[in-house]
Amino acid sequence: MTRRPLIAGNWKMHGDCAWTQSYLEQLLPQVEANGPEVVVCPPFTALAAAAVIVVGSPVALGAQNCHWEDKGAFTGEVSAAMLAEVGASWVLVGHSERRQYFGETDETAVSRAAAAQRARLGAILCVGETLAQRQGGETLAVLERQTRGLGGLDPARLAIAYEPVWAIGTGHNATPSQAQQAHAFLRQRAREHFGDEAARHLRILYGGSVKPGNVAELLAEEDVDGALVGGASLDVAGFSAIIQAAAGRMTSTR
Ligand code: PEP
Repeated sequence: MTRRPLIAGNWKMHGDCAWTQSYLEQLLPQVEANGPEVVVCPPFTALAAAAVIVVGSPVALGAQNCHWEDKGAFTGEVSAAMLAEVGASWVLVGHSERRQYFGETDETAVSRAAAAQRARLGAILCVGETLAQRQGGETLAVLERQTRGLGGLDPARLAIAYEPVWAIGTGHNATPSQAQQAHAFLRQRAREHFGDEAARHLRILYGGSVKPGNVAELLAEEDVDGALVGGASLDVAGFSAIIQAAAGRMTSTR
């Protein structure tokens, strides 16, 4: 089968409304409706401005986090329904920066994904090992632990992003074979939770220092179905080049 590649840009804490508008006005003409699925994830405050511009275009909006409850006394938090209302159709959950700085756990990440799906958003569940864990030979054990809650999720509204922590923002991407090994393991985990058919359709993205110059070799791997791009997504030309590389992968059969 052919999985449609998914390229998502995580802007992190970058981009005010004016920058967002200018960025999207440059990006939109370069994105084709029948190409890879393209998602941009601005900060919460720019989502409404972005929604006005991307409406009716092939570019979808994602948020960078959502709460696991639908509503309540959670000062500073944003629910998945609020994101849907403002025009988001995807949300990142469990990003390593959330895990590192904001106490995200394997359990809360999956709970957030479930909340996203209740609001009919797609969830991009981020997983990945630290450098110490990789050096200690624990990579697959970490991925196993991080995907224990998958069974509570709907595979039709899910993508998994394998993002080795040591590759995020460092300029040192995983090699294609390191990525493939992790992705194949994650697909096996999906098979255990969702069955063969759903696991075959599930998109597993690679994230960690993806750039125009390395994306093609990563996407050439059997189980690498797209990319979650941080720093390089802030440059329209670079992000467009990554999307073009993913479009090239669509012609291959797998
Ligand atoms: C990310 O933030 O998800 C990411 C992969 O960042 P970068 O591409 O900058 O490594």
